[in-house]
Amino acid sequence: MKAIYPGTFDPITMGHLNIIEKASRIFDEVIIGVADFTAKVDHFTLEERAELCKESTAHLPNVKVMMFSGMVVEFAKAQGCQVMIRGLRAVSDFEYELSLALTNTKLMPEIETLFLLPSLRYMYLSSSMIRQLAELDADLKDFVPAPVARALKTKFAEKDAQK
Ligand code: ADP
Repeated sequence: MKAIYPGTFDPITMGHLNIIEKASRIFDEVIIGVADFTAKVDHFTLEERAELCKESTAHLPNVKVMMFSGMVVEFAKAQGCQVMIRGLRAVSDFEYELSLALTNTKLMPEIETLFLLPSLRYMYLSSSMIRQLAELDADLKDFVPAPVARALKTKFAEKDAQK
């Protein structure tokens, strides 16, 4: 069975990777769907986000990274995915994820949303927190895959040089 794990991945974190590794053990194939959105200043572009997902999942042969725009359910269907994976951290994620899942089910009833829990040590991780830590030049090796830590370092070094 084929599953899609959609998100903005701005950038991909150890929390995302934890969910992807779990999903890759459950499904024959997992597509990471990197959503197009107008990148804000200081954020990664669509291509950068997808490339970092690729580099971070190179060790998982049944995981493929694709970019998409428009409705995620349309993209999932076109790719032949029967399941959409979402990660749930704390209760705070639940309300948003519930309305998203119910809306997607209404739009495309044949695609089932499946929630996976990350391992406890990744429960608190978010991309926005990572961006804040990067800005403060914190050591990110426990929070993001190595290619992401390098990319963040370069990004914020460039920003400092412009000041
Ligand atoms: P979106 O912009 O669609 O919320 P994200 O890239 O932020 O996309 O997240 C994609 C999915 O991964 C969401 O279901 C989100 O709740 C989940 N997620 C994000 N961080 C973690 C984490 N640390 N542990 C588990 N799930 C996570």
